[in-house]
Amino acid sequence: MIDIKSLYFPELESFIVENGFPKFRAKQIWSWLNKSVKSFDEMKNLPKNLVEFLCGSCYISVANIEKKLVSRYDKTVKYLFRLNDGEFVETVVMNYHHGYSICLSTQVGCKMGCTFCATGKSGFSRSLSASEILSQIESAQNDLNVRISNIVLMGMGEPLDNFDNVIRFLNLVSCEDGLNIGMRHITLSTCGIVPKIYELAKHNFALTLSVSLHAPDNETRSKTMPVNNRYPIEQLIKACRDYFDTTGRRISFEYAMIEGVNDTDECAKKLSNLLKGLNCHVNLIPVNSVKGSDFKKSRIDRQKAFINILNKNSITATVRRTLGSDINASCGQLKRNHTEEGGK
Ligand code: SAH
Ligand code: SF4
Repeated sequence: MIDIKSLYFPELESFIVENGFPKFRAKQIWSWLNKSVKSFDEMKNLPKNLVEFLCGSCYISVANIEKKLVSRYDKTVKYLFRLNDGEFVETVVMNYHHGYSICLSTQVGCKMGCTFCATGKSGFSRSLSASEILSQIESAQNDLNVRISNIVLMGMGEPLDNFDNVIRFLNLVSCEDGLNIGMRHITLSTCGIVPKIYELAKHNFALTLSVSLHAPDNETRSKTMPVNNRYPIEQLIKACRDYFDTTGRRISFEYAMIEGVNDTDECAKKLSNLLKGLNCHVNLIPVNSVKGSDFKKSRIDRQKAFINILNKNSITATVRRTLGSDINASCGQLKRNHTEEGGK
């Protein structure tokens, strides 16, 4: 069965023509798919034989709402979506003053095994198709009746471990007759799969690359991020410098502050040296506690001291505001609870 919503328009057109239907039908199908229909029967202007053909050869990806949590504090919404094959992914919608932002999952689970991450702790099931990533946006928009203007690929999964589907998603979502969310409104977050950073740079997208650094040296980083054993910090930072040189886009570094692990003055100095001369911004995030690990977030005075050292060394940094703290808005936790409860 063909995943019809993952096709680019010219691919859909060839598919329709090759199977003996007139070219203009492709446009009609495309426009129904963009209206988020869930079945071919809803495509009212298609002849019966085409609907039958589509039903027999293609499927439409959906993300059905299995669970929805709304934060009492800031209206952040978190969804647990059920996909066609019964797998679950999490998606979070945040309402900032400049519009709605969505945090999308790119895989069911993750192979990377970062010790502070709920997704990393629950193993890996499969990668998402481009259409499954798109469907999360459509379902959330339809449910909330709003237009989402910003995307962060920071939900479950490692986007660069699902490279081809993520590239396809990026092209589809930014396309003018699709959801039309421009690359400048998209952030892709990675734990640092070095060869894929070079490959992404070649696409020269205007998106923001966000690198989950979380430590200033190999010893500290390898303790919490196994990926660092494969692609150590020096290689990662070199790839980031290349990324900036190729695309001209400032890099964002994520740094989850864990008390006593990576938040000392010494760490801040090392981080300043590491990032010297690189056009970047550091986002400090007080680590979220996750079931089964005893990491604590750094105290406010530590956060302030850390940021001061970075700023003194001409590195811009901010502490990220955490939204949805009452609904476990960091991804991976809702699915984990759902699965542990046996899907109740
Ligand atoms: N796999 C990608 C994108 C998904 S994770 C990546 O790792 O970048 C999105 C972000 O959430 C990453 O920066 C990740 O390090 C961070 N993160 C995961 N668990 C966290 C936690 N418990 N507290 C704070 N940030 C966390
Ligand atoms: Fe995977 Fe990112 Fe979680 Fe690491 S932090 S386990 S890369 S989702």
